[in-house]
Amino acid sequence: MDNCIFCKIVAKQIPSSVVYEDETLLAFKDIHPAAPVHLLIIPKVHLDTLSSAQPEHEGVLGKMLALAPKLAAEHGCAPVPQGDGKYTGGYKTLINTGADGGQEVYHLHMHVIGGPKPWRGLS
Ligand code: AMP
Ligand code: ZN
Repeated sequence: MDNCIFCKIVAKQIPSSVVYEDETLLAFKDIHPAAPVHLLIIPKVHLDTLSSAQPEHEGVLGKMLALAPKLAAEHGCAPVPQGDGKYTGGYKTLINTGADGGQEVYHLHMHVIGGPKPWRGLS
């Protein structure tokens, strides 16, 4: 899509720090990280928002969700069981949708946020 910054990242027309790529997804480091680990997972296909997704996009949505724990683990954010049913470590997955959802870039993306706290603007 013309003038979409994330489509330009997919097309390698502007640089990004890619951490994962396959035929349907791209993941890269957020340029303004809110935490020590802050990744964005995007579909290569342009979708404005989560609410733009149609039934034919269920596969790519599932792949985005399935990729998050793999990337989190690769970046040291896997939750660690403590043996009492609780976990240390971990990460946050976040999809901002629309203006009231805080979305700034209108190409669907999932934030994966983790690492030692404090995190900027997030609890
Ligand atoms: P959102 O508010 O959910 O739309 O978040 C958009 C995110 O994209 C923000 O966290 C930005 O820091 C990030 N961002 C914007 N431009 C770039 C870029 N060129 N490379 C990496 N991350 C970006
Ligand atoms: Zn796009």
